[in-house]
This record gives sequence, C-alpha cells and structure tokens, in this order.
Amino acid sequence: MGRVIQPFEFVEPSTIDEALGLAAAEGSRLFAGGCELVLSMRRGEVRYRRLVSIMGVGGLGGFRAHPKHGLEFGAQVKIRQLANHIWVGKRWAALHEAIEQLHPPHIMNMGTVVGNLCSAVPYYDLPTSLYAHRAVIRIGDGRSDRELPIDDFYIGPRMTALGRGEMVTSIFVPPPLADAGSAFKKIYKARRRSNDLHKINAAAYVALDADKETIVDATLVIGSVGAKPVRIAKAETVLRGQSAGHAAYEAAAEIAAKAVEPMTDAAWVEEIRSEWIRLLARDVLEQAASRARSRHDPAEDAHLAF
Ligand SMILES: Cc1cc2nc3c(=O)[nH]c(=O)nc-3n(C[C@H](O)[C@H](O)[C@H](O)COP(=O)(O)OP(=O)(O)OC[C@H]3O[C@@H](n4cnc5c(N)ncnc54)[C@H](O)[C@@H]3O)c2cc1C
Repeated sequence: MGRVIQPFEFVEPSTIDEALGLAAAEGSRLFAGGCELVLSMRRGEVRYRRLVSIMGVGGLGGFRAHPKHGLEFGAQVKIRQLANHIWVGKRWAALHEAIEQLHPPHIMNMGTVVGNLCSAVPYYDLPTSLYAHRAVIRIGDGRSDRELPIDDFYIGPRMTALGRGEMVTSIFVPPPLADAGSAFKKIYKARRRSNDLHKINAAAYVALDADKETIVDATLVIGSVGAKPVRIAKAETVLRGQSAGHAAYEAAAEIAAKAVEPMTDAAWVEEIRSEWIRLLARDVLEQAASRARSRHDPAEDAHLAF
C-alpha cells in the first residue's frame, strides 16, 4: 500500500459499444466504482495505461426490486442502493445480510455489486449470497445479450467466463417462492500484515410448503474455501421433501462439512475449517427456514395483488 499510481488515461464513453472498443486495447481496463481496481493499482499488482469508466454509459443504471418479478440491477448500481431498498431486505435477505456485513461499510457508497462479482476474488461475500439466490448474470457485447447462471460465471480465482469484448450489463435475481427465506453469515479472523484468507462465509435459501412443514426447495452455498463459492448439491437434494426441522439442517450441514475440501492457512487447520463450515451451514439453514416460517406480511400481500 501507499505506492503512487502511475499516470493513466481516463475515458468516459457513453455507449456499451464504445466502452468495449476502448477497453479492448492493450493496457486498457473497464471499471465502475474503482474500489477494487484502484486498490490493485496502488498495490502495484496491476498497471493500466487507460481506464474506461462505465458510469456514463447509457442503459446500465436500471434498478428494480419487486417480490413477484424479481430483483434486477445494472452494472452502475451502487451497493448502497440495494442496502437501502426495503424489498431487498425482506425477500433477498441473504444478499442484504452480505451487504450489511461489508467491512468497512462505506465501501457500499462507491462499489457496485457487479464490480464485486467481476473482481472474482475468492473470499468476497456478495457472490456467495448471489449463488444462494440463483442469480443470473447478463452479459453484453454491445450488440446482443446472453445470460449465464451464476454457477457458471467463475472459471477460477480472479477468472470469469466473460469473453473478449464482453461485459456484465446487469444481474437478475429471481423472486423467491411465497414461503421462502434466506440467510448469510460469515466468520473471519483479522490478521494484520497477512494475505491469508482466515474467512468462511455461507448462505442458504429455504422454501417451505403452504403448511410450512416440508422443505420444497433449498440452496446451500459455502464461500471463501476455494477458487469460487461451492454449492452443496447433495445437501440440497437431501433437504428437498424433508420435514422442516433441526434434524434436517444438522444432516445437511454434516454433508457440507464433508463435501468441502477447504484451503487451509496458518490460522485455521482443516479440522477447524470443517467445523466452522458445519456450524455456519446449520445456522444459515435454520435462519432461512425460520424466516420462511414466520413470513407473513400483509403489506407485501397487498402489494402482490397489483
Ligand atoms: C477496503 C475494502 C474492503 C472490502 N470489503 C469487502 C467485504 O467485506 N466483502 C466483500 O464481499 N467485498 C469487499 N470488498 C470488495 C468491494 O465490494 C468491491 O471492491 C467493490 O464492490 C467493487 O466494485 P467497483 O464498482 O468499485 O469495481 P471496480 O473496482 O470498478 O472493478 C472491479 C473489477 O471488475 C471489473 N468490472 C467492473 N464492472 C464490470 C462490468 N460491468 N463488466 C465486466 N467487468 C467489470 C473491472 O474491470 C475490475 O477488474 C472490499 C473492498 C475494499 C476496497
């Protein structure tokens, strides 16, 4: 830290086509809020001769959160906008909790969710919550758009499935089922002067039947344990059709602890990480299910009538 950033050209195009054209040149890079990029440049990890801001590009600022139609936001939407929206907190609680726990919180004012996602940093929190909500990534090349499930977006640490001449234009997060809830938790150990991870995060989505007794759908995700968040597919399968209760969440958490082979570091050996995974998995499932059970909001039901 503390290095001087080498001089660079700063350009502000107004169309996607123009932005992608400028970013295609050697030594050029797209950026939104700049939190990630400027930090990496200050650390001397990357050097660019030209930064292409997408903040003036038309068509990337859309934001809609509707419990029935889903959550949709463009690449320019700041994290703060999602944090402040009532429906995001009510219906996409895992994402909202991941945002609320960003540290330091003022990163929300500059950073975008899309920038967080595209940084592809293995220990970031928002991707784990977006996995739990089964987000869909919309990718554009200036002429057409394609959609990719978030599960297919990362191909490795700091590597995404974006092709040359493509950018993320927006993210769509499907509406949860009526009797569904979600939750996010993380644990980390702050260590100065160390780049080790020391962190695990987890997110879950649980949907119950109309009697709120049986699990009809579930997603369980563990993050910061490898190159990208890990969906615990076996646990999700086991949960579906089970009666909603502590035993089901304990069993699913046990599967998660065995399924994930976490990277270890100086702070947490494998056994400790596995135990944290088990506890976090159980807690997010319990919390998500409790939200699903207690969900009754007349204001929301009235809203849905329109
Ligand atoms: C001090 C600090 C603390 C943080 N703490 C946390 C934390 O606790 N948890 C957590 O999850 N995150 C954390 N973050 C990450 C933070 O949320 C992200 O850095 C921020 O959201 C990135 O958004 P941005 O708009 O600033 O991205 P930028 O810095 O502008 O861009 C980041 C990367 O994404 C690419 N990019 C941006 N937009 C697009 C697009 N539309 N299409 C394709 N590529 C694109 C850029 O080329 C660049 O490589 C922290 C960051 C900092 C600096």
